[in-house]
Amino acid sequence: MKVLVPVKRVVDYNVKVRVKSDGTGVDIANVKMSMNPFDEIAVEEATRLKEAGKVTEVVAVSCGVTQCQETLRTAMAIGADRGILVESDAELQPLAVAKLLKALADKEQPQLIILGKQAIDDDCNQTGQMLAALLGWPQATFASKVTLEDGKATVTREVDGGLETVALQLPAIVTTDLRLNEPRYVTLPNIMKAKKKPLETVKPADLGVDVAPRVKTLKVAEPPKRSAGIKVPDVATLVGKLKNEAKVI
Ligand code: AMP
Repeated sequence: MKVLVPVKRVVDYNVKVRVKSDGTGVDIANVKMSMNPFDEIAVEEATRLKEAGKVTEVVAVSCGVTQCQETLRTAMAIGADRGILVESDAELQPLAVAKLLKALADKEQPQLIILGKQAIDDDCNQTGQMLAALLGWPQATFASKVTLEDGKATVTREVDGGLETVALQLPAIVTTDLRLNEPRYVTLPNIMKAKKKPLETVKPADLGVDVAPRVKTLKVAEPPKRSAGIKVPDVATLVGKLKNEAKVI
């Protein structure tokens, strides 16, 4: 059984991003890039399923610029068997990525696709859902536990009031939540081994997909700066300020 794991190259989660002065987006020049953290969890889960004998092959896919090869090598150092780069310099929005992944799924015929629940750069939380719709497959989003048995996936989902457990007929889509697992540290020997694993490159046109953006970003703005706090002498003053200045009580 083959598992496809889409991995996105995003600004590293430790970087404090800065909005460009013209408000058209975020400045990513000379900024550290890494694999989207939810995708690391997805690769870890697929690798664990392989180590448990439930899965035979883990294929990592990344859509974007040439440097996404590094993201794929990291996925292979965690445990993916091979990588596919869908190379494009264009801005790839979730619908375009979902269409590219659909074309690859048609070609590769995986039984399971594990994506991150959201990319930490665009915070869209759309690609997995769109891919499930395009493929006509069942989906379980925000997974905190995944088991595979008899052609079925049983997935525990993190929902508002607690946990929900669902059974899906394979092939299916799963998106990862934070508590699904803790990804392993990649070791130097595994980084070296990953360099020798196969990495194929295709273009969106090879897959017959039009990746033209459908959504235009009108403006990006920094959150308002927090003003410094003050000390109040007593509870009465505090209540007065909450009532008359903050107007929250
Ligand atoms: P999003 O819908 O943009 O929040 O992304 C959700 C998930 O879709 C990510 O965690 C990835 O697993 C996958 N994904 C999104 N964009 C890409 C991309 N360019 N290449 C590979 N996977 C992607």
